Amino acid sequence: MSDCLFCKIINKEIPSEIVYEDEFVLAFKDISPQAPAHVLIIPKTHIASAMELNEQNAEIVSKVFLAAGKIAKQLGIDKNGFRIVNNCGEDGGQTVGHLHFHMLGGRNLGWPPG
Ligand code: 5GP
Ligand code: ZN
Repeated sequence: MSDCLFCKIINKEIPSEIVYEDEFVLAFKDISPQAPAHVLIIPKTHIASAMELNEQNAEIVSKVFLAAGKIAKQLGIDKNGFRIVNNCGEDGGQTVGHLHFHMLGGRNLGWPPG
């Protein structure tokens, strides 16, 4: 989608600090980190939110989690652990309309979240 912020990041029209990239997903540092490690993992195809996942495109979620394991090792947060969060829709706190998974680590995140 031409007017989507994260599609622009995928297309390198907007710079980002990329930490991982493969055929299916891109991962880059969140511009406003909420933990010492805060990465956004996104599908390279435009999917507006988790509500847009279906039988045809849902395999991308496994690609996201496969990437997450590699990124965790790369960032050194594999031992102590991390959290993966998807905000969906207005009440879920989603502000960018391109499916993304927050990967947070590097500190004890606590539970339940606020
Ligand atoms: P959401 O609130 O939709 O779940 O998460 C969107 C995230 O995107 C936020 O954590 C926000 O800091 C991040 N973000 C927004 N604009 C940019 C940007 O231009 N570059 C990067 N790297 N992150 C962004
Ligand atoms: Zn997009």
